[in-house]
Amino acid sequence: MNLSVRVIVETINEAGEVKSHSIINIKPVIPPSSLAALGYRQAEQIEMLQYIQQALLDEQSYFLQEDTPKCPRCNNKITRNGYVKSNFHGVYTDHKVSTRKQICLKCKWKSIPSIDSLFGCAIHPDLARVQTEMGAKYSYRDAEHVLALLSSKKRSINNHERIKKTTECIGEYLSLLSRNDNIIQPQVADNLCIQVDGGYVNTVEADKNCFEVMTAVIFDPELIDYGGGKLKRNGPVSSLRGRLISKHSAASALADQQSYLKQTALESAIKQGMTKDTSITAICGGTDNCWNVIDAIAPHCHDVTRILDWFDIVMKFENLSLKNKRLREKAKRAKWHLWRGYPDRAIIRLEEIKNNLNEKNDLQNITKLLSYINNNLGYIIDYRQRHKNGLIFTSQLSESTVESLINQRCHRQQHMRWSRKGLHFLLQVRASISTNNSWQEHWECYVSKAMSKTAA
Ligand SMILES: [Zn+2]
Repeated sequence: MNLSVRVIVETINEAGEVKSHSIINIKPVIPPSSLAALGYRQAEQIEMLQYIQQALLDEQSYFLQEDTPKCPRCNNKITRNGYVKSNFHGVYTDHKVSTRKQICLKCKWKSIPSIDSLFGCAIHPDLARVQTEMGAKYSYRDAEHVLALLSSKKRSINNHERIKKTTECIGEYLSLLSRNDNIIQPQVADNLCIQVDGGYVNTVEADKNCFEVMTAVIFDPELIDYGGGKLKRNGPVSSLRGRLISKHSAASALADQQSYLKQTALESAIKQGMTKDTSITAICGGTDNCWNVIDAIAPHCHDVTRILDWFDIVMKFENLSLKNKRLREKAKRAKWHLWRGYPDRAIIRLEEIKNNLNEKNDLQNITKLLSYINNNLGYIIDYRQRHKNGLIFTSQLSESTVESLINQRCHRQQHMRWSRKGLHFLLQVRASISTNNSWQEHWECYVSKAMSKTAA
């Protein structure tokens, strides 16, 4: 019983008659000697796709011509003048596709179209999507590697420069999207939480080492998934990290006095359900830049409770790194005063520590911490009470914005240096992907409009 499996591509006409017939693959059916021999190998699958896809493209070629009934130069009749081939890149395979040439016999005007000139782009939107999501998640070189694995070979369309170009092109489109035009407010929220934070990345700019990148995330504090899909609605908030069920993200790498972030954070808040009656809880790392973004949102809601991020405070204390055990205990007590909402008592303790230090580095650290507390006096609250009441007071409970929008992508490769513009566009893609129902629902529209040179 010698069986084979044969894959055939046929073209049939309306009457069901076979117009063309080609054998794509013949596979003898033999007992699989190993798991690897079970079914087709990846390279075989891709090869078959290549032929199947090409068969359809060859038939579609008939329709691929410039839509000009008359010569645009002399208005004479134009005639077909054979075919010309150009590149087309699908998700898994690359192709040469024939398009129809046309000519005006009177004035010799010629139309020699390509997939790029007819559609404004030679990359299928499905591939552009994969490149963009990969480029947003991994370094461009790692993305290149993953895409080569998926296509079972290296394709020049998927080299890191092309992935970068596609990702940034779509990020640029997202950054220019007139978000104000159609802000849809699906629900109205009584309470919302906003986290604003900043981080630093290395820069390619000659005169600097790094620049600040800022993020904002707006979410419903009632909707945090602490695992198993369970929502913690009442009772004390656990110290577990949770996943935000419903959120909007914004990010910026521009040096524009936070103007871009202010605008997009406000729009994000409105999309998340903010109205004039909404109470906002703002949890920020303690820089003026963060509070400036909150200032821009404050006039558009009912009230804002400003809280210095407890997680940020804890990190600042960890950075003290005191060698003396007695002083470390003193610092712990200072932190305890902050936990209970007494910054003045914490300052007294820290001043005592400062008086006992003489190393330059230690003194610098403690002076920095003191000015951090002094600058944020109004935003240090009774964290213990909030904890008891099950209210949010730290970015630690949910995936923090800087962590998910910047650090995961940018700090994996410490040596990577960024241009503000390139990173800004990349962050728009990451923000869109991390925003509910944004990228997942609209990627095809975003990709098509961003990639097509001909689209308005
Ligand atoms: Zn002509």
